[in-house]
Amino acid sequence: MAGRVSDPFREAGPVEGVWENRELPSAVDPSVALQAVLFDVDFTLARPGPELGPEGYLQVGRRHGVELDISLHDQARVAALEKLQKHPDFRHDEELWIQFTERIVIGMGGDPATARQIAREVERAWENSDNFDIYEDVEPVLDELRAHGLKIGLVSNGARDLREFVRHHNLDADVTVASRYHGKVKPDPTIFRKALDRLEVEPAEAAMVGDHLEDDIEGARALGMHAVLIDREDRYPEVNERLTDLYGLPAALGLVRA
Ligand SMILES: [Mg+2]
Repeated sequence: MAGRVSDPFREAGPVEGVWENRELPSAVDPSVALQAVLFDVDFTLARPGPELGPEGYLQVGRRHGVELDISLHDQARVAALEKLQKHPDFRHDEELWIQFTERIVIGMGGDPATARQIAREVERAWENSDNFDIYEDVEPVLDELRAHGLKIGLVSNGARDLREFVRHHNLDADVTVASRYHGKVKPDPTIFRKALDRLEVEPAEAAMVGDHLEDDIEGARALGMHAVLIDREDRYPEVNERLTDLYGLPAALGLVRA
């Protein structure tokens, strides 16, 4: 489908049947008051725009004098996904993404001689804050969390400068941690811990909100945080503590309106 953009690691994550039977680490102690909420960025707070989907490949290819076949994008992406693997030590590695994107370019009929340059340019577009739209539920929900006195952080796997992203979209956040600057990607516990340390909050006093089961939910729960899955595309109906938008988040976190 033209214009469709999604997170490859989310697609490469646990399939529904596997997740269903999976034992989750125990939930946090409900008697501990919540102090902070950490958010994932892509597909949780922000929707990647068409520049980051098949149309983006087409446009970048044309700038390099190559006519890519947009109809081959989806199958090229599925094939590239099969070869995509995180490092076992969860280190942030941009080369992984360039190779992934390069395979898609070649799969769309690109010339191997220019595929890497095209891939680099497509990847760089993920660093441009302008290429994302903030979901409409974000501002009112962040306002409501603030009204409850909560601290807010963003934790994202990627190369984007999140401080610039926060300024660009006028988001209300106290801290940001991006894997490029931290050196490890979610679900490595150190990336959550860095955000919590900077907020001076213990894991049991914090919740993680994100769209990726392994990176956001399992990663945060392994550290003793509360976690809520945002499933905007209704992919995981069997998961408890799942919301299809952010409006229900304050209630899901047990926050009662004054
Ligand atoms: Mg995400």
